[in-house]
Amino acid sequence: MKKAIITGITGQDGAWLAKCLLSNGYKVYGAIRRNSDRNLHRLKRLGIDGKIKLVEFDLLEYSNILQAIRDIQPDEFYNLAAQSFVGVSFQQPISTFQTNAMGVAYILDILKSCSPKTKFYQASTSEMFGDVDPRNVPLNESSPFHPRSPYGVAKLFAHWNAVNYREAFGMYCCSGILFNHESELRGVEFVTRKISFHVASKYHKCRDLKPLELGNLDAIRDWGYAKEYCEGMWQMMQQDEPDSYVLATGEGRKVREFVESAFRFAGHDIRWDGSGVNEVGYDNKTGEVLVRVNPDFYRPAEVNLLIGCAEKARKKFGWAAATRVEKLTEVMVKGDIDFLKGTQ
Ligand code: NAP
Ligand code: GDP
Repeated sequence: MKKAIITGITGQDGAWLAKCLLSNGYKVYGAIRRNSDRNLHRLKRLGIDGKIKLVEFDLLEYSNILQAIRDIQPDEFYNLAAQSFVGVSFQQPISTFQTNAMGVAYILDILKSCSPKTKFYQASTSEMFGDVDPRNVPLNESSPFHPRSPYGVAKLFAHWNAVNYREAFGMYCCSGILFNHESELRGVEFVTRKISFHVASKYHKCRDLKPLELGNLDAIRDWGYAKEYCEGMWQMMQQDEPDSYVLATGEGRKVREFVESAFRFAGHDIRWDGSGVNEVGYDNKTGEVLVRVNPDFYRPAEVNLLIGCAEKARKKFGWAAATRVEKLTEVMVKGDIDFLKGTQ
């Protein structure tokens, strides 16, 4: 039986990846940091909370990482743990660098000395591309990087560090450059889940529901379904040689388009009026205000355009995103409606 450590086991991808590895016969060790509460709700929702061996682990604690790797000697190590929210990284740059960059440096150094045959996966991100020249879209593994947030800068450090351990020491290090991937398990501060949860609350006629407040409505993202992306992580790690791969759908949508399709699901057609901070989304029939712009959600530096090309992953191991954004919106809104009904 193969052994795998997943850091970030309590997060969205941690849960989906654990499900994938369990179904492939792995013994899964979930690295979990101490919290005031054990937040295992995602693992519970997938029905796998009892099937994972939890190990105490903080990415900022060298001795924790050392002990976990030395004791378990995993076949595969998936580093998904991170301060993963771009917006917060502007307010907490130092802890973001420590977790997302230095944490990875610790893991690689420890793997090199204690378990050099372990395969390593680094959760890299399309945010590393950052300030994208539209002529370079869709982006692939060779596109230039120009990160636009402390999150993106830290992730780029970790990406190059993984590549360097591969090249310098011959270690099996994969870097998955994943474009945005969402699901019913996504954190509520990310824009897709913020929207789906709001629309589900509206559908439930929650009392005192104020209009949805958002920042930049024109940012374009390539949104796929997280379950498929986590299966792609595992596939990457089954190749003979380690490499870096983009996973993406190849299609981009504006934030406002995601808003429109989510509200349509709850029976509201949106009409936009005004511009910039004064733009408002009305219900086309009733004139009710559904969406407002709140500049608090603007970022000091924005990434306006991210669309990826996953051709290399398709050619190498047959990976392709199956769920398009319209279906994804439906899955997320329905998921939140069920969640609010208390059936999930
Ligand atoms: P997520 O839901 O925010 O999960 C992040 C996980 O990291 C949580 O389990 C969190 O634990 C853990 N963590 C944070 N700081 C830690 C620390 N110091 N020590 C140990 N654990 C720590 O993120 P996700 O969406 O699953 O994303 C997984 C990874 O993929 C992240 O590295 C993210 O940056 C990257 N990524 C995500 C996307 C995407 O669209 N989802 C795209 C590209 C790359 P707590 O529960 O204790 O907070
Ligand atoms: P990111 O691509 O990792 O930053 O994922 P997010 O879901 O946090 O943001 C995606 C895009 O939506 C970014 O361009 C944000 O500026 C934009 N956006 C607009 N309004 C909001 C909002 O209220 N919350 C978040 N999280 N993002 C927003």
